[in-house]
Amino acid sequence: MGSQWIFLGGEFVKKEDAVVSVFDHGFLYGDGVFEGIRVYSGNVFRLDAHLKRLFESAQSIMLNIPYTQEEMTQLIVDTIRKNQLDSAYIRVVVSRGKGNLGLDPSSCSKPSVIIIAEELRMYPKEYYDRGIKIASVPSRRNRPDVLSPQIKSLNYLNNILVKLEANQAGVEEALMLNDQGYVTEGSADNIFIVKNGVIYTPPVYLGALEGITRNAILDVARAKGYDVRESPFTRHDVYVADEVFLTGTAVEVIAVIDVDGRKIKDGNPGAVTKDLLEEFRKIVTTDGVACYPTGTNHAIV
Ligand code: PMP
Repeated sequence: MGSQWIFLGGEFVKKEDAVVSVFDHGFLYGDGVFEGIRVYSGNVFRLDAHLKRLFESAQSIMLNIPYTQEEMTQLIVDTIRKNQLDSAYIRVVVSRGKGNLGLDPSSCSKPSVIIIAEELRMYPKEYYDRGIKIASVPSRRNRPDVLSPQIKSLNYLNNILVKLEANQAGVEEALMLNDQGYVTEGSADNIFIVKNGVIYTPPVYLGALEGITRNAILDVARAKGYDVRESPFTRHDVYVADEVFLTGTAVEVIAVIDVDGRKIKDGNPGAVTKDLLEEFRKIVTTDGVACYPTGTNHAIV
């Protein structure tokens, strides 16, 4: 494996040279937006949906991305090809850029656009085989009318705090409630429950990011004929569910077998969870944007 190339400041630079200014407002204030995207066998999974979310996050914080969606698509594909990657994790960051120490973005003349593509670090296989434990945590999800969870911003403190609280509780992931006590999502994943054959996930307006994986799971579940509903539920509903699982770009679909010390059913990953992961994996190599012409050896393109 040669150098890792990062797209930064309008060109490709080596990883060692990929540095941003301490005056970048992304660093000083978390002023910016980002995306985490996955590449499966040269296919950038649902890239259009990721870019739509990126541009909508930017629109919401009045950040002007200096490329069109088509140009961003090409730049992401170019970054994957430049690094000769086949299966990868992509991080796209657009920050307000360099300014002075004041928080007013008007001192920032040019947004910083960064694209990082690297080898995938998979979650441990036993997480999938045995499922994970989660716990509801003291910090509530940001209220949508304060800082909308729909904005995938560089300000991830809400998520970081709940991750710390989950670590303190000795579990793998946090269960975040909103200020009304309704279930919203995990620190970086959406939540689903299954009860009496019906699949439920909270509506995003309660305070969740509209996950790309979440929407893909809704699509494959509906296509398979499951009864799927976006409706509010509480911790109690999670405790007494037949199955609980989380979804996200990195984690895909992962079973939850214990919530706040309550074992979910027999404490093993459930059949619907396994079925949906299988269905999801059927679409990940074709649903998206192909980086390489079919039949080519990716490494020499
Ligand atoms: N919620 C939050 C807060 C997240 O950061 C993520 C990861 N992007 C998700 C949910 C899952 O979204 P996706 O399926 O698009 O990765």
